Amino acid sequence: MFRKLLIANRGEIACRIIRTARRLGIATVAIHSDADRRALHVREADEALHVGPSPAAESYIDLARVMAAVRASGADAVHPGYGFLSENPAFAEALAAEGVAFVGPPAAAIRVMGDKITSKRIAAAAGVSTVPGHTGPITDADKAARIAAGIGYPVMLKASAGGGGKGMRIAWNDDEARAGFAAAGREAAASFGDDRIFIEKYVTRPRHIEIQVLADMHGNCIHLGERECSIQRRNQKVVEEAPSPFLDDDTRRAMGAQAVALARAVGYASAGTVEFIVDDARNFYFLEMNTRLQVEHPVTELVTGLDLVEQMIRIAAGERLAFAQDDIRLDGWAMESRVYAEDPLRGFLPSTGRLSRYRPPPEGSHDGRKVRNDTGAFEGGEISRFYDPMIAKLCTWAPDRAGAIEAMADALDGFEIEGIGHNLPFLSALMEHPRFRAGRLTTAFIAEEWPDGFHGTDPAGDALHRLVAAAAVLHRIAEIRRARISGRIDHHERHVGCDWVAVIGRAEYPLVLKADPDGTDVHIAGGDVLRVEGEWQPGRTLARLVVGGVPLVVKVEPLTGGFRLRWRGADLAIRLYTPRQAELARLMPVKAPPDASRQLRCPMPGLLVDLHVAEGDRVEAGQALATVAAMKMENVLRAERPARIARLAATLGQTLAVDEVILEFGAE
Ligand code: ADP
Ligand code: ADP
Ligand code: MG
Repeated sequence: MFRKLLIANRGEIACRIIRTARRLGIATVAIHSDADRRALHVREADEALHVGPSPAAESYIDLARVMAAVRASGADAVHPGYGFLSENPAFAEALAAEGVAFVGPPAAAIRVMGDKITSKRIAAAAGVSTVPGHTGPITDADKAARIAAGIGYPVMLKASAGGGGKGMRIAWNDDEARAGFAAAGREAAASFGDDRIFIEKYVTRPRHIEIQVLADMHGNCIHLGERECSIQRRNQKVVEEAPSPFLDDDTRRAMGAQAVALARAVGYASAGTVEFIVDDARNFYFLEMNTRLQVEHPVTELVTGLDLVEQMIRIAAGERLAFAQDDIRLDGWAMESRVYAEDPLRGFLPSTGRLSRYRPPPEGSHDGRKVRNDTGAFEGGEISRFYDPMIAKLCTWAPDRAGAIEAMADALDGFEIEGIGHNLPFLSALMEHPRFRAGRLTTAFIAEEWPDGFHGTDPAGDALHRLVAAAAVLHRIAEIRRARISGRIDHHERHVGCDWVAVIGRAEYPLVLKADPDGTDVHIAGGDVLRVEGEWQPGRTLARLVVGGVPLVVKVEPLTGGFRLRWRGADLAIRLYTPRQAELARLMPVKAPPDASRQLRCPMPGLLVDLHVAEGDRVEAGQALATVAAMKMENVLRAERPARIARLAATLGQTLAVDEVILEFGAE
């Protein structure tokens, strides 16, 4: 076994690898950039070495600098994690030349699978079913359009060197094929330094289902079942689960057999993933093979009981797999939510900044359910613009899917993140979604269910009443505290009233509260009596209550005269008034929100790389206005309604801040 492992990565995955290495008695070395001097992975490793400036290209992806760190550390093995150098065959070769073990597959397998065109050809030759398409060279946009038309629309134009959802475009007609060819090529050249594009049939409303394989260096190769990763935005995964609610045993076996056949065909050894898209008739087609540890590997660990990082390390050390295909049992159900610094209210665009609050829910086993949170973040730490905006991977396990979803919904309610935009409300809304709960997933799920973007959820019925009752009880507790501090009462609570009106926007809920030593009965006029129990003190940002017999974990923020409560994707301002105050409040005018529709504002920090309109132009709804590049992705901003461009406020090549005005619309 190895003595010392260098982890050529950062963030949650570096922390996760360190954890397993430590358990195996292997010393760990972290590497870090300028921006990561105080990062969690640096603190958790036994040693840490600085490798360069903040941009990944000058630190984590700089082969020479990482190799220098490997030499300086005296490590006898390197785990690359995912991203960065993990799929760079030159890295595996450089390590081999130094006599250092690479905890990953042979360089030759990385090389052929890293190129989507080559891997698709190899897969087809190995008898793996592939998406119909064209993998020959495409020289110009017109040729792209001819090939696309030949395949039949819709098609997908994909960068052969692509990854991370970058460098791909869907086209429904010749014009889009031409435009997509240019855009995908540009994005691929910028991200991967390789603009080769291929075209394949776009499978509409498919599922993304992938097979985890594990192979040793002695010819043993097995699969660990599937993960379903259909919940995606911008072709990138957000929620993954194992097993898939869609596969039957026969399909699982057939996909597993093809994945193993492909792994064998390229002489694979280590953990790897063969990705497929699956249509509604359970036809499956090879997408790509990821020759590394996958972001979503924890869900497989939770249902197989295996530690994939441990397996990778053992395989790299020359050990044989200690089990065969028949020994693999899938037990229960696991979910993973990728908690991203992305603002769902702004079209999932990245948000960066300091985590003024970061409190994940408690991990461990409880009531037959498990919670696991893989993270590299900490309170006071920064989500840097230099790297992937993932904050944490929150996973849950339960004996069945419904239980895993419920556990996830609870865990999300108890997850506190403040200071930056994040997708917790969206993940919560997803867990509550009836179609998600029913397992009717496709990669178009988010686009179909939230066609106009996500704007939070509106709780109704019982759920709303529970929140109102909770707010009333929190208010009563706060009022008692205030009365005590101001000396209005000594020990008694009798001066705090029991008649309140809860007000949400224009809706009013008259309430009567009856408190006893163990809890409070809240009578909502015209309806239920809800008993509220649980502990909360003013100043606490999370309340763990039981309301009407149902556990309610709610995020609490004081407002003048009430609270902001956040729960399951809902974000409510609830004021608690005396009946007299409520009467006066009714007379207050409602303030109209400022009209932002006259301006196109930049939704995320980025670079203005294209302006598609000029002053005086008339545009239609959906027409492209500007392209902003952020985190290596090009984001096209479109017109929401027909308009005339009155003024361009930003210039090409300008670096834009959030909400900076790009252009102004004029009267028709
Ligand atoms: P997965 O299927 O596991 O989500 P992806 O291909 O989407 O894998 O990418 C895995 C990780 O690698 C992501 O966190 C992504 O940000 C990162 N990644 C992908 N491509 C690149 C790249 N060219 N440079 C740096 N990181 C990358
Ligand atoms: P990456 O390397 O960026 O992960 P993939 O080839 O794995 O690229 O594709 C990423 C996602 O894009 C898939 O999970 C799927 O949602 C979508 N996708 C890719 N190819 C197709 C296709 N031919 N038809 C439909 N969707 C596709
Ligand atoms: Mg992929």
